[in-house]
Amino acid sequence: MEIRALKGTKDIFGDEMRKWLDAEAIIRRLCEDFGFNQIRTPMFEFTDLFARGVGETTDIVNKEMYSFVDKGENRITLKPESTAAVVRAFLEHSMYADTQPTKLYYISPTFRYERPQAGRQRQFHQFGVEMFGTDSPTADAEIISIGHTLLKRLGIKKVELHINSLGGPECRKAYNEKLKAFLHTKEEHLCELCKERMDKNPLRVLDCKNPACQEHLQDAPTTLSALGEGCRAHFEELQKLLTAMDIPFIIDSGIVRGLDYYTKTVFEFISNDIGAQGTVCGGGRYDKLVEEIGGKSVPAVGFGAGMERLIMVRDSENKEAISEATRDIFIGYRGDEAMLEAFKLVNQLRQVGVSAESDHLQRSIKAQMKYANKIAARYSAVIGESELENKELGLKNMETGEIVTIPMSQFVEVVSNLTQLSPVE
Ligand code: ATP
Ligand code: MG
Repeated sequence: MEIRALKGTKDIFGDEMRKWLDAEAIIRRLCEDFGFNQIRTPMFEFTDLFARGVGETTDIVNKEMYSFVDKGENRITLKPESTAAVVRAFLEHSMYADTQPTKLYYISPTFRYERPQAGRQRQFHQFGVEMFGTDSPTADAEIISIGHTLLKRLGIKKVELHINSLGGPECRKAYNEKLKAFLHTKEEHLCELCKERMDKNPLRVLDCKNPACQEHLQDAPTTLSALGEGCRAHFEELQKLLTAMDIPFIIDSGIVRGLDYYTKTVFEFISNDIGAQGTVCGGGRYDKLVEEIGGKSVPAVGFGAGMERLIMVRDSENKEAISEATRDIFIGYRGDEAMLEAFKLVNQLRQVGVSAESDHLQRSIKAQMKYANKIAARYSAVIGESELENKELGLKNMETGEIVTIPMSQFVEVVSNLTQLSPVE
């Protein structure tokens, strides 16, 4: 059998890897600016956590989970999303007992058994944020602002923010009845799955991807029409905050999200640029999930963003986003004695934070210089017999071609100053 990567999985390397590292660095900085701490939860959890947390009637739990029984007979699932796992950790480590709110973020591999296509993989990666311990709309606004600021810092412009409110449990109950009544009038036009879900979880029907279903759902009652006083005020306050923070939004009653745990605010950042899989980031408030998982009532709000889709949109809008990889210096050599000196210098330079390379392939000097160009070295030097004898090196600026002669004993210091890097501790 030919051994290759599984369908729906990807190796990330080379230029692509540089895009990821750059995006991840932007995310880390962003989360620091917003006061969020990173959390890393295990790659797998008990299946029950997701069944309970994400919801039995969702696509994820129904069809998309990578579940297996391990040798200890435990029923285990590779995480299909991270919120339920973060909630589990929040409870397990009694984070609710710390000063609130608890503000966490993650970047994590995520696994869903789906039909692979552009922007849809079986192992993908999510960046997500969660804020626990407050039901204030200021928290919803702060979470949305992270998404907004992220897109700005990634140089992504053609993405719209759509917001909606599903209401709290009370409004949802009233709404579900209204929606069920409506769905029953359309029953004959709906797909099998929708028919199945219609009574158990009517809201899920609105999220059906089947165009035929969508056509008959146009006139469905909206969750906004069923909001009670408190939920309506919460949604209005959020809108005021977004306006004050200069974050444009569209109220879109079609946003209901594919997971069961949302209450009140839901939102998506949607791109029109990358085809059908246009949602780069989706989230909302989940005031009942913590209780659902661990019995303690703690309100929370968060989002999950697909790293692959973020990088795709960034690419499609801004080709020059990532600069080429460069090295500070390449040191070539001719002969065994010079080889020792070259690797000694390269090693000393690296100790003080200069990115330096030499030749590992016994190349000719000409080929070594070609390599120096290939790795985009800013400076180069070649050590041969005369350099060893005179204890001097010619340092060449690869851009201008200018060469200055430097005593070997001062070489590291001079190059270090030139490349303007402070010594690494
Ligand atoms: P979709 O409607 O595209 O299936 P979803 O509602 O299932 O999305 P969420 O569970 O909200 O997605 O996940 C948050 C984000 O993770 C999505 O907005 C998307 O950017 C990304 N994402 C979800 N599934 C995949 C996947 N299979 N491959 C790549 N990215 C994904
Ligand atoms: Mg999905």
